[in-house]
Amino acid sequence: KALDELEKELIRIMKIVGLSGDFKNIYRTDSPEYRALTQATFIEMWNRGLIYEALRPNAYCPGCKTTIAEAEIVYEELPTQLVYIKFKVKETGEEIIIATTRPELLCSCQLVIFNPEDERYKKLEGKHAIVPIYGREVPILPHPSASPEFGTGLAMICSYGDQTDIMIFRELRLKEIVAITPEGRMSEEAGKYAGLTVKQAREKIIEDLEKEGILVKKERIVHRTPTCERSKDPIEFIPMKDFYLKQLEFKEKILELQKNIKFLPEFQRQILLNWINSITIDWPISRRRYYGTEIPIWYCKKCGKPNLPEPGKYYVPWKEKPPFERCKYCGHDEFRGEERTFDTWMDSSITPLFISFFKRDEKLFKKLYPNAIRPQGKDIVRTWLYYSILRCFLLTGKLPWKYAWITGYGVDEKGKKMSKSKGNIIYPLPLIEKYGADALRFWSAQETSLGYDFRCSEKRVEIAYRFIVKLWNVARFISLFPFPEENVELEETDKWILSELSNLIKKCLKGYKEFNFFIPATEIREFVWNLFAPHYLEMVKKRAYGESFSEEEKKSAWFTMHTVLKNLLLLLAPITPFITEYIWMKMYSKESIHLQSFPEFEGYEEYSSFTQKILEFNSFVWGLKKEKNISLKDSIKVEIPQELKIFEKDLKAMHNIRDL
Ligand SMILES: [Zn+2]
Ligand SMILES: [Zn+2]
Repeated sequence: KALDELEKELIRIMKIVGLSGDFKNIYRTDSPEYRALTQATFIEMWNRGLIYEALRPNAYCPGCKTTIAEAEIVYEELPTQLVYIKFKVKETGEEIIIATTRPELLCSCQLVIFNPEDERYKKLEGKHAIVPIYGREVPILPHPSASPEFGTGLAMICSYGDQTDIMIFRELRLKEIVAITPEGRMSEEAGKYAGLTVKQAREKIIEDLEKEGILVKKERIVHRTPTCERSKDPIEFIPMKDFYLKQLEFKEKILELQKNIKFLPEFQRQILLNWINSITIDWPISRRRYYGTEIPIWYCKKCGKPNLPEPGKYYVPWKEKPPFERCKYCGHDEFRGEERTFDTWMDSSITPLFISFFKRDEKLFKKLYPNAIRPQGKDIVRTWLYYSILRCFLLTGKLPWKYAWITGYGVDEKGKKMSKSKGNIIYPLPLIEKYGADALRFWSAQETSLGYDFRCSEKRVEIAYRFIVKLWNVARFISLFPFPEENVELEETDKWILSELSNLIKKCLKGYKEFNFFIPATEIREFVWNLFAPHYLEMVKKRAYGESFSEEEKKSAWFTMHTVLKNLLLLLAPITPFITEYIWMKMYSKESIHLQSFPEFEGYEEYSSFTQKILEFNSFVWGLKKEKNISLKDSIKVEIPQELKIFEKDLKAMHNIRDL
């Protein structure tokens, strides 16, 4: 129900800000139709041997009580204690000291390692250490995973403190001791600590070790701790039976394929590359969550083998009868439905297929797939983007899109991440009510270049709003004059601003081609604020009103002002759709601006060389008047520089320059 309301609210905001989506055709990844496709793709991958079940230690969140994928782990710098514990060497009776942040895992310690380069411990190779409290003898071996700089350079290997432990257990085929239960409590293996939570057990064992004189030192450190992205709980590594989707064997292929996706901006590709290169295990896709798409399997109660239904329908095995009578392996007729669900990315990774009517309308699918673009945030590159590439490639043999458009985070005005607890969230609706949707859109376009984090604050939106007002005032001024129908002979000043317009169009179109709205937004703002309004419009104002100018000269100004405004509206329409549409319909056409093409105007290139000189001259005269303490309208005696002589008439009118 909460989701339904959120959905309504989101769609309302989307409409208000002017997103032109097909709102009759929205999809939700938890709809029966969508889930049927998730299940169908699972069944297909299962039949092709891309999925297997395995019991292996995996990242497990005791808070969410489920296995999670590497992609759902976030590493946090958390404060913890590094404790130094005495072990005895069995053969010599000498004492060695091992530092660890996980003393509660002593019960599952199966090995002590030192770095092969570490001269201090070479003599220990092949000997045995006696694990305190538990008295078990474990081998001492050299291993490159031990860092001579960490603690004493000796490390205990337990099942399981981290990925290194898992790797070494696997590599050396050590016998696993399961120290922690899926509830996040110590198992029977922990002896007197059984039943305690991991945290309680850690405190208790530190206390005991101190009493016994086995703990020789405690250090407060900040430790890079794997935590659950959702619940923020520290991750444990617990052996669990899970389904895996093969991904390791496709790493090279995907590294090759991704080259064909154009990343906007290019530097965000690195997130994907780093991620693919860091993948060490296949993707665990089963979850022990209640809310999720059900894994469509029924197990035979006699032979235990998994039976899968035909793809195409949405199945809920834990509460439904299977759509078949007998086990296809032994012919038995009683089944137990699977209770686990999928990792949510199993759903989200096929959005490109769902929106293209994959398996629902093959003709339409051929037209719509691959999609053009994936717009998304940089925080879900290793999940949504990567898993989409993997799954869509495995299912269609093709990449899902040509472009990946990756945005940064919205942060608060001090650059901090927004969160409910910090109370620094900025909601869009009140800002839209105050400044309008166009101001919000223009702000978001001009705030930062594509891919960078952008700061959200009311002040920044207000600044964007001022530009909208400026555009409105410019249009209102120009609307005072008619747009001449007949051909006009252009004046020099008019050719000059058209040359700048031509430059502006080129820059804007380049920005749009890269889907980087920052470029057109900032270029247009710069053009209107600092060139068109203060310089050009001031230069031609008197001519436009026809004060001591000929009819021809006047019409040239009218024509040019309207030409520039028209093109500005066309360039701005994707960013500020409402005000541009309003002005466009009022002044230029009965047909929506959003049905027009981008402008292609080009010309008068050579006039751009005057721009700097015009700006300098105007500023010089304004400064001079200020210095003399006379108003801008007052007349003044100034010499117009030789190179600006062609604009003399307009400049004289603008500044009210008297002849020397
Ligand atoms: Zn969790
Ligand atoms: Zn059977």
